Amino acid sequence: MQLHLPSQSCLRALLLSSLLFVWGADRSAFRGLSLSQASERGDSGSQRAARESMVREQIAARGVRDTRVLAAMRKVPRHLFVPAEMVPSAYADQPLPIGHGQTISQPYIVGFMTEALELKPRDRVLEIGTGSGYQAAVLAELAAEVFSIEIVEPLGKEVALRLRDLGYSRIKLRIGDGYRGWPEAAPFDAIIVTAAPDHIPPALVDQLAPGGRLVLPVGRFFQQLVRVRRTPGGIKQEELLPVRFVPMVGEAEKPGE
Ligand code: SAH
Repeated sequence: MQLHLPSQSCLRALLLSSLLFVWGADRSAFRGLSLSQASERGDSGSQRAARESMVREQIAARGVRDTRVLAAMRKVPRHLFVPAEMVPSAYADQPLPIGHGQTISQPYIVGFMTEALELKPRDRVLEIGTGSGYQAAVLAELAAEVFSIEIVEPLGKEVALRLRDLGYSRIKLRIGDGYRGWPEAAPFDAIIVTAAPDHIPPALVDQLAPGGRLVLPVGRFFQQLVRVRRTPGGIKQEELLPVRFVPMVGEAEKPGE
């Protein structure tokens, strides 16, 4: 009996520590970035240098030329948009997990898609798939108004706090399915979709202003980045690049859509 006592308390301690471990892992995987965390992390000289190399070696070197896009990506502190454990990889040439099975896109793809939108300072832009809010912040550096829709509620709530803390008050956020766009705020000069439907959502084309550009990945496993343009002669479509994005969920997945 006495021999059992230590082993029972041992078991209890083990159980408690594994519970704490799961709780801790869960919290760190899904944690948003609060104001104190954002300001604690700050934007050091080494983060700025890493950003400068990212722009030069991954984005400009691969052909993104728009100087406004390059300046925006030099400015937005990407490391403040990723979970704490991903900060050392924030400026690496890859997408990164942001929790809830979602990812922040590879820096080059953000640069390429942003350039493809051909943004002018007075433009109004819609993004479908807010995710971490990084792409939305880049858009906010380049356009007058940014609207962004995220379907995963906890991600949408985290991103609202993060963008507020970082001072991006011009970005209007909505939690919901972006398949039908944001009709009340339409038309848009540019629309960017950062999750892949297997067809072009008709409502997004309808919400393009004259001259408007829609840039989105289309496909299931093999996806193409497509640009749709509303021209005086009608809707024009071009394929830009093979890509790999998370699928657009919700109404886009319904058969017959
Ligand atoms: N632009 C983001 C990356 C997004 S990853 C960034 O800069 O971090 C794609 C995002 O699209 C995910 O957060 C996913 O939840 C969201 N998404 C998928 N389907 C959606 C839909 N129908 N409407 C809105 N958001 C959607």
